[in-house]
Amino acid sequence: MKKALKIILYFLTGLILLVIIGSYISYWSFSPEVADVVITNQNTSYFADSYDECRSDFVLLANQLQKEIDNTTVESMSVPSKLDQDLTIDICYIPPALDTGKLFVMSSGVHGIEGYAGSAVQRMFMSELIPDMGDDRPGILLIHGMNPYGFKYKRRVTENNVDLNRNSSVSLELYNTENRGYADLYNFINPSKVASSRNLFNRFYYVVAIVKIIKSSMPVLRQAVLQGQYQFPEGLYFGGTQPEPQIVMMKEYLPKYFDIYDNIFLVDLHTGYGEIGKLHLFTNPVKDENIKELTETIFDGYYIDWGDSGDFYTINGDFCSFMGDINPEATYISMPFEFGTLNSQVTFGSLHSLQKTIIENQGIQYGYKNTKQEKMIKSSFIEMYYPSDPAWKSTVIEQSRKVLNDALENYIKIK
Ligand SMILES: [Zn+2]
Repeated sequence: MKKALKIILYFLTGLILLVIIGSYISYWSFSPEVADVVITNQNTSYFADSYDECRSDFVLLANQLQKEIDNTTVESMSVPSKLDQDLTIDICYIPPALDTGKLFVMSSGVHGIEGYAGSAVQRMFMSELIPDMGDDRPGILLIHGMNPYGFKYKRRVTENNVDLNRNSSVSLELYNTENRGYADLYNFINPSKVASSRNLFNRFYYVVAIVKIIKSSMPVLRQAVLQGQYQFPEGLYFGGTQPEPQIVMMKEYLPKYFDIYDNIFLVDLHTGYGEIGKLHLFTNPVKDENIKELTETIFDGYYIDWGDSGDFYTINGDFCSFMGDINPEATYISMPFEFGTLNSQVTFGSLHSLQKTIIENQGIQYGYKNTKQEKMIKSSFIEMYYPSDPAWKSTVIEQSRKVLNDALENYIKIK
């Protein structure tokens, strides 16, 4: 009897070890790749690796458009900073040839580091699509680098550790939002010690996460972590205690354009969420049936994630909603473009994504174990929002060209 028990015990221990080793190997070998795509120089040439280059290329193209299209304006707005006096949001406005009442807006870099892809898409749009538009083109407003600090220093957040896509609001009420689920998870997503990806804690982080998922379910966790929080300035997804300077600036600046249109369509450019190399049209749920229908007409033939399916989450203080509140009289359609980088739609992908996000913030808040760790943590974070793979870059531009072309064609036609 004792012998039989011993055998069962050995067997169970062996099984548990096998599961741990198996999951360890499959978690740490998780490395999604872009499906076979044709890489073209034309597409990859839009990418530049520094904020300064992206910005000067944007301004160059804007100045060129100014020469070609009457009454085009190019403006640069300084974003106040304690660390860097050369941070700007750059804006190019092209009025319509005829009075169509429609304004198309495209913004990049709300999440600073995501501006590398966003800027590339904007510049492709400026050099290829705008010159081909006819007299029925809408007014066009391009906003480059909403969070220039994060863009330049390769962070998602602003220099105040604020996630601009949780901070954008015309009302101050947002900053009183309480996120109880987040407070419960605080220690799990904000470890308060020096960052090291090699320690035991980080190696088995996914196990802790999986236990949490089993306890509360993935959608609940995702919602608690990602919706934004307003209590912990050093924590992830902090939405601030007041609007960031650029939100105040936009609230004052934009009405001069927004108020003269009765139909506004915004595309806000992001990276990081979803299947690697794929453009996801991913929005907060839309209640207004008319707006939903117009959005479907504009993106006819494309799949839209409405933010109400099981694996989605909704956010507070998002930039798209804020922009809609600038002129509440206008019909307003918005669509965040998300270019996937890490297959975050599957569990291992989303855990890797969360782990990289946590450790990047941990390093900023509490320092790094050594310089080698600092380098590793930072480069793995950059890779998550701005992948170096030319196949990724090429397909981002390829898909943007097609979707923007189709969407604008449909937008021009809607009544
Ligand atoms: Zn983003």
